[in-house]
Amino acid sequence: MTQRNLTILGATGTIGVNTLDVVARHPERFRVVALTGQHQVERLATQCRQFRPRYAVLLDEAKAHQLRGVLADTETEVLCGEQALEQVASLPEVDTVMAAIVGAAGLGPALAAARAGKRILLANKETLVMAGEFFMQAVKAGGATLLPIDSEHNAVFQSMPPDYAGDLAAHGVRRILLTASGGPFRTRAVETLAAVTPEEAVAHPNWVMGRKISVDSATMMNKGLEVIEARWLFNARPEQIEVVIHPQSIIHSMVEYLDGSVLAQLSNPDMRTPIAHALAYPDRVEAGVSWLDLARIGQLSFESPDTRRFPCLALAYQALAAGGGAPTVLNAGNEVAVDAFLNRRIPYLAIADTLRHALERVAGRAARELDDLREIDREARSVAADYIHSLA
Ligand code: NDP
Ligand code: MG
Repeated sequence: MTQRNLTILGATGTIGVNTLDVVARHPERFRVVALTGQHQVERLATQCRQFRPRYAVLLDEAKAHQLRGVLADTETEVLCGEQALEQVASLPEVDTVMAAIVGAAGLGPALAAARAGKRILLANKETLVMAGEFFMQAVKAGGATLLPIDSEHNAVFQSMPPDYAGDLAAHGVRRILLTASGGPFRTRAVETLAAVTPEEAVAHPNWVMGRKISVDSATMMNKGLEVIEARWLFNARPEQIEVVIHPQSIIHSMVEYLDGSVLAQLSNPDMRTPIAHALAYPDRVEAGVSWLDLARIGQLSFESPDTRRFPCLALAYQALAAGGGAPTVLNAGNEVAVDAFLNRRIPYLAIADTLRHALERVAGRAARELDDLREIDREARSVAADYIHSLA
């Protein structure tokens, strides 16, 4: 058994909390070296008291000062700022980094972990959407290992042949089938979608998640981001990735082989399963998850996604086909639009309108360097913000 020394980026979030839940079940296997958060100082303080990390990181100095006061009688050193996030993602004493910050803010620390050759447990899908090619290059150059946390990609990883790197077809793989629950609005009358509130959008039928990804699930942008994520993780062409709606969220995704076999990973919808899989890989450990009772579930059903109901999914495929900076624009526009929707500045349907507008105005430019992508990200945010402003 290998003991793993962990940094958990985004420890105070939904994925972070689930990660610590699994870690706490196996104190002999996992040692926490660093934990990070942004706003939730009290929660981070409680986590530090329980897991006694060497470092805790917050973004702003006032909050860091507050945490230092609370943890004065402990051995945890409190650091602050984006630089500190990158520092704890690349510490020599850390071998495994859980990348669970939400949004584009997760890119810098994930890249630092890649360059430092860590085992990266990647939850932050925005990293791959925003900068897939660069990130995968950094993983390769740094000798890092990437293990997917997103339940679909973790399921695909588990269903892939052992050494699938390179050309999928050469390994006998025909397609990746990503399952999607369809979110809270799968059956709601399309004419009533204009009236959707943030409360309705974050109430996911099967999963408990952060607010941003919950809205992404309602619009199915989450699945669009996941198609792009799969493209990079598994070196798949867009036409090798198909989305199928599966409302029960029991099959987390599948891999279809050239001989007609389809391999799937099933479990109850609980993120502790993919988290425990990646934490212990290639071992298997208990995750605290309830056992799957198929007779009680009774039926697993499937349907095709309706892009009239879910235009964001089609926009994501478009951005992937366009390539270059288009996925970066998609991600940036989406972050701005979802934030505006959650703050009641735009109606639900304007999320897709904002993305369409940003993609028309900003996409198409090739990005040669990471700085180009950061520039495209900034431009897309500003174009999306102006558009939202014009709606007011
Ligand atoms: P949450 O919103 O619950 O948590 C986000 C975490 O990131 C928190 O620790 C938060 O700190 C921190 N954070 C937020 N903004 C910043 C920033 N600018 N700089 C540094 N830290 C920041 O999100 P989730 O846990 O739901 O999701 C995390 C990631 O995992 C996302 O990329 C999501 O797409 C992905 N994911 C999540 C799944 C889920 O089931 N939740 C499933 C698959 C993927 P604080 O809370 O202290 O402010
Ligand atoms: Mg997912």
